[in-house]
Amino acid sequence: MTQLIDGKKISAEIKEELKEKVAQLRAAGKEVTLAVIQVGNDPASTVYVGNKKKACEFIGIRSLAYELPEETTEKELLDLITELNQRADVNGILVQLPLPKHIDEDKVIKGIDPAKDVDGFHPQSVGALCIGQPGFLSCTPAGIIQLLKRSGIEIAGKQCVVIGRSNIVGKPMSLLLLRENGTVTVAHSKTQNLKEITKRADILVVAIGKPKFLTADYVKEGAVVIDVGIHRDTQNKLCGDVDFESVAPLCSAITPVPGGVGPMTIAMLMNNCVESVL
Ligand code: NAP
Repeated sequence: MTQLIDGKKISAEIKEELKEKVAQLRAAGKEVTLAVIQVGNDPASTVYVGNKKKACEFIGIRSLAYELPEETTEKELLDLITELNQRADVNGILVQLPLPKHIDEDKVIKGIDPAKDVDGFHPQSVGALCIGQPGFLSCTPAGIIQLLKRSGIEIAGKQCVVIGRSNIVGKPMSLLLLRENGTVTVAHSKTQNLKEITKRADILVVAIGKPKFLTADYVKEGAVVIDVGIHRDTQNKLCGDVDFESVAPLCSAITPVPGGVGPMTIAMLMNNCVESVL
């Protein structure tokens, strides 16, 4: 029987644990505050920002919303970040991506104080992960590690294949699996004989950004498959990078879309916010 990895349930557990921690911190006189900056009104970003605010409310994290107009200049945004970096009552700073084209995202990410970088995108956070030092972890890959651990799936010694090498998913994912003692292979668009590589995987993480790309012929029987993708299919239904119907029967465990990796990203963002105070 294929185990369905329930991201909704696991993220709810994590949020309950965090709620308790925040209450303890409050009792000790410590408040957790996240500043969320959105530039422009991209509809998807508005939904993500709204969900982050709701999660903060549930856990007891104070959120400060900065909704800036599309015409905001790079300098104005960087000045706001500098001000938030200096404020002792702000623990975490999140700038919702993507930013309008006239703003350099790399500059903005680098502008955030690494001690408040709850998205884990600052080069210092990424560097710390690379050399095994403490630092904020990128939320989606950190959520995947939690999904595996809390579903009783061993990583140590396993053949782990990550398809995708983006800075926010593929690269940090491979580093985290390595940190958990997996044997890691990273595949990308220039990889040759992809099927041969993915068929060796005990744990296969798919972050390719192509709807239902991964079909049964890429998967070894008994593999654990983690689907990071989020898309709308031709019937406007949510689907992932994995063709769930054909792949699920082969797997020992798999994440669904929706209800798999998606809910974990916000849970881990909340976790980073709480850690920023500890
Ligand atoms: P991305 O930046 O577009 O990266 C896609 C990666 O896939 C790239 O490294 C690319 O290789 C590789 N790739 C593309 N075509 C390939 C092929 N035919 N064979 C092998 N590799 C191929 O995407 P991303 O930001 O990592 O996101 C991936 C997916 O996850 C998207 O669907 C996104 O919406 C979703 N996502 C979900 C969450 C969540 O919370 N659930 C969070 C973030 C992202 P190259 O580097 O060679 O171009």
